[in-house]
Amino acid sequence: MDPTPVHSCILIGHPIGHSLSPIIHNAAYAALGIEWHYGLMDVLEHDLDAVLAGIDGQRVVGANVTIPYKQAVFERVDERSPTAEAVGAVNTVFRRAGRLVGENTDVAGFLSPLLDVRSDWTRARAVILGAGGAARAVAHALTRELGLAQVMVSARREATARAIPDVTVVPWDKREAACLEADLVVNTTPVGMASNQHASPLRDTYIFRSGQTLYDLIYAPETTRLMASAAAAGAHVIGGLPMLVGQAAAAFQIWTGKEMPIDAVKKALRDHGVSGGSS
Ligand code: NAP
Repeated sequence: MDPTPVHSCILIGHPIGHSLSPIIHNAAYAALGIEWHYGLMDVLEHDLDAVLAGIDGQRVVGANVTIPYKQAVFERVDERSPTAEAVGAVNTVFRRAGRLVGENTDVAGFLSPLLDVRSDWTRARAVILGAGGAARAVAHALTRELGLAQVMVSARREATARAIPDVTVVPWDKREAACLEADLVVNTTPVGMASNQHASPLRDTYIFRSGQTLYDLIYAPETTRLMASAAAAGAHVIGGLPMLVGQAAAAFQIWTGKEMPIDAVKKALRDHGVSGGSS
């Protein structure tokens, strides 16, 4: 018998060696008895078209897309979901009636742990640090899905913040003052990642307070310096792992038509030395 699974899903990016997505998806397939495989595909830009053409909806059912190709794939799909269209980036692709469709599940993944904190955010004010692809998904979630009273964006290159619709742009040098006014602070910069874990996107003069929520999209390390300082000040803290699991669950549902078995996924992450996606 051929042990190679007939169906697979892939993660397209460069570089992608550190990704937790294979652990998440393969644990979910195993728990449901689905004989699929999720693999990593480190793709160079000149191979992107060929890789996308290989997503036939049969053998290769679909793909997730990560840095640096979320915008490039957005340009290349045949159709985009309304969410992907609004965000301007694609992180999930699949075939529908032969056409390659682009979706953005980062929005759903970002929202789910935030809705566990409170269901109504309409009176809240938020600051988003950074203005890259993840910031665009976060801004869409906060302005369009949750309808916050005010969403501010602060980025070291102000022009990138200005390109995000429906937000107030705050100069990078004034980000701490903006955070003082905010109920929610979201870090979408990579500052504080494992490669630079002693760094923080906010200067030490900024002290969080109870009643504030800090949401750091970084998931490695699990506790960033920013998260530790917010927790020490009594703020509510959400790390990047619940979003990672949430965006994976939304992609899994698209490809398999089934709900991701989250408990099995959390166990697999714990077995891998990661605390399992709890908020
Ligand atoms: P991106 O498109 O490269 O954007 C990164 C943003 O951070 C840009 O505004 C960039 O500014 C800014 N930045 C980078 N280095 C900085 C520094 N030293 N100081 C100040 N600002 C800096 O990346 P992305 O796709 O948005 O991802 C950003 C982060 O979110 C990554 O850590 C990624 O792992 C994380 N993420 C997590 C999830 C999850 O599921 N948890 C999902 C998506 C992304 P410039 O334009 O000036 O470089």
